[in-house]
Amino acid sequence: MAEFSIIDTYFNRKNANSVDLGVGDDSALLTPPPQQQLVICADTLVAGRHFPMDTDPHAIGWKSVAVNLSDIAAMGATPHSILLALSLPQIDHDWLKAFSQGLYDCCDQFGVSLIGGDTTQSPHLTLSVTALGWVDIGQAITRSGAKPGDLICVSGTVGDAAFALQHLGHPLQKRLDYPTPRCQLGAALKGLAHSMIDVSDGLAQDLGHILKASQVGAKLQLENLPISPALHALNDEQKWQYALAGGDDYELCFTISPQNYEKLLQKQLDISISMIGTIQQQHGLTFEKDGTDHLFQFNGYQHFA
Ligand code: ADP
Ligand code: MG
Repeated sequence: MAEFSIIDTYFNRKNANSVDLGVGDDSALLTPPPQQQLVICADTLVAGRHFPMDTDPHAIGWKSVAVNLSDIAAMGATPHSILLALSLPQIDHDWLKAFSQGLYDCCDQFGVSLIGGDTTQSPHLTLSVTALGWVDIGQAITRSGAKPGDLICVSGTVGDAAFALQHLGHPLQKRLDYPTPRCQLGAALKGLAHSMIDVSDGLAQDLGHILKASQVGAKLQLENLPISPALHALNDEQKWQYALAGGDDYELCFTISPQNYEKLLQKQLDISISMIGTIQQQHGLTFEKDGTDHLFQFNGYQHFA
């Protein structure tokens, strides 16, 4: 089966939303809504590096979309469409069927269209997704807007995926294989949050990007970290290690003024929010436990380790 037949069979479904021209021509065409800025990002998943070789292809399809929608959400934007660059070692129809189903399941859940891509053969299974979204002009939430006095918040729970990676078969594996991009929350924070990032390499490291870009520091309350009940059997240091240094959470970490935090709590959100610390003028990241300083060493995810 030739490349075009793969595209037609697995990657040419009806679009979920408005697309002027989708899969099938040299490029796709979209009409930007009035007064909106294009938000665009890409993320690559390499088999054996970002997921175990034998991962369920449906989960790989889901995750390759979800991690990109998470980046769009982290800008306070609404995702619109994706492009898929697929490098396959061989043509495996069972794999392609399940993969494309997972990809479309995630697209459908968040109202996103697959509008194009590229399909090639290569010795390594590699999936590169580019996501596009829209945000009101000038309203994107970047990493550089954190201000001293801001509250630091994180959605959902952190550390689940890292825990699952070391306990394959545990019920938390769902959090590793099927991360949920926090699209509704991201868009709801537009006009409220001062800075935001999605947590993919560990909360402490990703919060560190906000601190660096904003030229501020932070103090975190360790007891406020949102940790799944499944991790409660671990001792405190182990739990915090997962929560602060575990990767693949795809939760949103944002900073917000106390007044806007109150406004946020008035909104109907589909995910819990935890207030985990405050932004400070003084640089660096420090920790507190029950009101007193606590020394804590964490290890973040290194892409080139
Ligand atoms: P070209 O050679 O002009 O780059 P291709 O033959 O690579 O075009 O692709 C044909 C059409 O199929 C294009 O619209 C392209 O965006 C789309 N396409 C190719 N691979 C994929 C894929 N994996 N998923 C979605 N669309 C794809
Ligand atoms: Mg062409």
